Amino acid sequence: MSKKENLECSFCGRKKSETDLLIAGLDAHICDQCIEQAHGIVKEEITEVKSGSLSKDLMLKKPLEIKEFLDQYIIGQEGTKKAMAVAVYNHYKRLLQVKDDENDVEIEKSNIVLVGDTGTGKTLVARTIAKMLNVPFSIVDATVLTQAGYVGEDVESILSRLLQAADYDVEKAEKGIVFIDEIDKIARKGDNPSITRDVSGEGVQQALLKLLEGSVVNVAPKGGRKHPEQKFIEVNTKNILFIAGGAFSGIDKIISKRLNMQAVGFSASIKEDKIDEDNLVQYIIPSDLKDFGLIPEIIGRLPVLSYMIPLDAEALRRILTEPKNSIVKQYTKLFEMDGINFSVKNEALQYIVDKAIEYKLGARGLRSLCEAILTDAMFELPSSEEKELVVTKKYAESKLTKSTLKKLRAAS
Ligand code: ADP
Repeated sequence: MSKKENLECSFCGRKKSETDLLIAGLDAHICDQCIEQAHGIVKEEITEVKSGSLSKDLMLKKPLEIKEFLDQYIIGQEGTKKAMAVAVYNHYKRLLQVKDDENDVEIEKSNIVLVGDTGTGKTLVARTIAKMLNVPFSIVDATVLTQAGYVGEDVESILSRLLQAADYDVEKAEKGIVFIDEIDKIARKGDNPSITRDVSGEGVQQALLKLLEGSVVNVAPKGGRKHPEQKFIEVNTKNILFIAGGAFSGIDKIISKRLNMQAVGFSASIKEDKIDEDNLVQYIIPSDLKDFGLIPEIIGRLPVLSYMIPLDAEALRRILTEPKNSIVKQYTKLFEMDGINFSVKNEALQYIVDKAIEYKLGARGLRSLCEAILTDAMFELPSSEEKELVVTKKYAESKLTKSTLKKLRAAS
C-alpha cells in the first residue's frame, strides 16, 4: 500500500478513503466532516461571546458614563440625558437580574416618553443610546399604525422592523430599543371614545399596551400583509426598551390650566415660584398626557417622562460644531479627503443660525442650509488647484438666495 492511502484525519481517525476531502497541515490532516464540526463550534462560541459582551458592556457603564456618552452627541437637554441614563441603566440592570427566588423583587420596565417639539433631538437621543449599547434599533411612526384588521400597519409591524435591524437574530432583537415617533398622534380624539370607532386612536393604544408591558408576540418577519406565506416568529417584548416621542402640540395649554388651578387653589408655593410661561413643557406631569388623550394604562407603561427644551440660537450654534459628528466636522472631513483645508468663520456660523431661526428650519434645517452653501464648492474644488476654503458670512450670503431659503422652509 502506498503511503498516500495510509493517510487519515488526525482528529477523528477516518481513513482518507472514508472522507470526501482530507486537508494536509504541517504534521497533521483534517477531514471535511471535522472541519464542519469545528466550524459549528467556532460559530457557537463567537455568538456566546458576543451576547455575553452586551452584558459586560452594560455592567461597565454607570449612569454618569452613559450621560457622558450622550453629551458627545447631544447638545443641551440635560434633564432628558440624565433621565435617560438612569432609565437605561435600570432597564439593563433588570435584564441582568438573576432571579434566585420566586419572591425576589421584580424590577419593572423603564420605558420612556419624551415630550418636545419636532427637531429637538428625541430621535437622536434614542438612536445614540442604541449606538452606545450596540443593540438593534428601529424607529416606527405611530401615525401609520392601526388596529388589527384596518388599513394600515398592525402594531406587530413594529417588531418586524426590529427583527430586520437585528438581522433576524431573535435573541438580539429581544434586547433592542424601539423608538415610537409621534405617539401623540394616537391620542384619543374627543372625550367619549365609544361614539365612533376610533381606529387610529384608542384602539392602537390598546394594541400597543400588549407590546409595552411585555408579551410573546407573533411577528411576520417581512412585515405587512403582503407576504401571507411567511412563517411567524415569536418575539418576547419583555426586555425590549420602548422610547416614545411626540410633540404633543397644545399640551402647554393643559399644563398652564393645571398650574393656574393649583395657584388659585391652595398651593402658595407655585405662586411664589415664578412660572416660566415660555417653556411650560418643563412642568409636565403624567396626568397632562392623560388630559391630552393617552389612556392611563399606556401612561403607566411609560413610567419615565421627560421633556425636550426648544433649541435657542446658542444651542443651534453649538449643534453646528460641537457634537462628535457635528455638521461642520463632517464637511471638514469630506474636504480633507480631497486635500482641501476647510474652515467656517464664526460670523458665517452665526449667519446660518440666524437663517435657521428666521425661516423656522430648526436643527434639522442646519444641514440643508450648509448643503445649500457648500454644494458649489463641493462640486468645483475637487477638480481645481484651490486647496483652501474659508466660509465667511459674505460667502454664505452669496450662496443662499431668498428662493433657496423659501424652498428649504417649504421642505421642512
Ligand atoms: P425629533 O426626533 O425631536 O423630531 P431629531 O432627533 O430627529 O428630532 O433631530 C433632528 C436633527 O437635529 C438630529 O438628527 C440632529 O442632527 C439635530 N439635533 C436636534 N437636537 C439636537 C441636539 N440637542 N443636539 C445635537 N443635535 C441635535
